[in-house]
Amino acid sequence: MEYEAVIGLEVHCQLSTVSKMFCGATTVFGQEPNSQVDTLTLGLPGTLPVINARAVELAVRAALALGGDVREHSKFDRKHYFYPDLPKGYQISQYDQPYCVGGAVTIDLADGGQKVIKLTRIHMEEDAGKLIHQEHGAWSEVDLNRAGTPLVEIVSEPEIRSAAEAYAYLMELKRALKWVGVSDCEMQEGSLRCDANVSIRPLGQAQFGTRVEIKNLNSFRAVEAAINHEIAAQSALHRAGRYAEVVQVTKLWDPDARTTRMMRGKEMAADYRYFPDPDLPPLVITAAERERIRAAMPELPRARQERFQREFGFERAMAAELTAEAGIADYVEALVAAGAKPKLAGNWTREEALRLANESGRPLAEVAPVAAMAGLIALVDAGKVARVVAKAECAELLASGQAPEAFFTAKGMIQVQDAGQLQAWVAQVIAGEAKTVADIRAGKTAAVGRLVGATMKLSGGKADPAAVKAEVLRQLGIAG
Ligand code: ADP
Ligand code: MG
Repeated sequence: MEYEAVIGLEVHCQLSTVSKMFCGATTVFGQEPNSQVDTLTLGLPGTLPVINARAVELAVRAALALGGDVREHSKFDRKHYFYPDLPKGYQISQYDQPYCVGGAVTIDLADGGQKVIKLTRIHMEEDAGKLIHQEHGAWSEVDLNRAGTPLVEIVSEPEIRSAAEAYAYLMELKRALKWVGVSDCEMQEGSLRCDANVSIRPLGQAQFGTRVEIKNLNSFRAVEAAINHEIAAQSALHRAGRYAEVVQVTKLWDPDARTTRMMRGKEMAADYRYFPDPDLPPLVITAAERERIRAAMPELPRARQERFQREFGFERAMAAELTAEAGIADYVEALVAAGAKPKLAGNWTREEALRLANESGRPLAEVAPVAAMAGLIALVDAGKVARVVAKAECAELLASGQAPEAFFTAKGMIQVQDAGQLQAWVAQVIAGEAKTVADIRAGKTAAVGRLVGATMKLSGGKADPAAVKAEVLRQLGIAG
């Protein structure tokens, strides 16, 4: 029997605020344990929470970037649990009235198509701290720096059907959230975290199977591997007629053993004893406020990717790569504005500028200034500098700070446009390559490339390959 996976992801994303969700303690990453802590973080009696307006603004940006419906009225609730890393004994979250409902993430599929994964909801909440278990000691330590950090939890509908789709969903989500400045989405620093809910069902069956929730997924690759592992485990039980052994539990992914381990039985909402937090007023996000935030949003990555395909004629993969970050897309458009043909702007960004930026760890516009890059592209496009030469010299040119034309002139690399010189070079090559000429006459037209190569070599790279090819064909009396 064939099985189909059903997957829903819950993603926690840390909002890039200076201070915490409900107090003024700071949120700097990597600080001395318990240095980003105040009386509210410690849960001291008499302290009261205050909603961080900046966190709300960023949460609204996230919602709008994902096409969600931002609710005018929402509220904060207390979620109770035994949290050794959250001293007040409950987490402030949003339960039955989240600030955002719906939304969607569109992903590109391997077959060239697209798929829309709907979102159930997005809610705001505070993060917990971190327990550090001594490997051999008898105690654990707690670091409350992260406790109270503002998060949004983005819950997808169970519409993901494979580990690869889950991976694409996370990439797309990260691109959108970084793009609008909501979060840095650094998984290694915990600012993006993902829990995966996985079940399987016989292909064609409408009803969902029992799901397992997997936590501790610390990279996109881990999400992919854990989902595949869980699908295989559940399928094996199914096939063995032991489906009843798939029970709703929470598991932990063990990245070293590449397997999942039982963590706890699944808690249900009732276990958390949710109730509205009496210390906080209901959250009101007016339509005017929401529209003010929307008006300040940039063109979103998916729209920009599609525009690059439409306006610039880019293939999907190229459009996706060049809109992976807003800075890359801005760079390509700056080259186009500086006169480069879009396809050339895209290719030079992809093949040279991005490589230099990655190698040096410096911003694109710094390692490959737009004016110099656009100048280089124009020289190649006009046939003044051979493409191979331009590629070989690109890094040196950009580092030199010189104007491209002056740079190539000084190096004697400007291509010879003189028709008489070109004819002489080609005639010399043809005279010396009788065997190749015979091959071409016998129908091996691919051998023309050999003559073009030999002429390029003879010219010391100064001939224009396209003009050389035309001249070779002309002298051999072959139509181009
Ligand atoms: P909880 O609050 O217990 O985590 P939710 O109903 O909020 O439960 O669902 C959490 C996630 O689980 C959502 O992303 C949802 O799409 C997903 N999910 C729900 N049912 C299933 C299922 N049968 N198989 C896989 N994922 C599921
Ligand atoms: Mg959950």
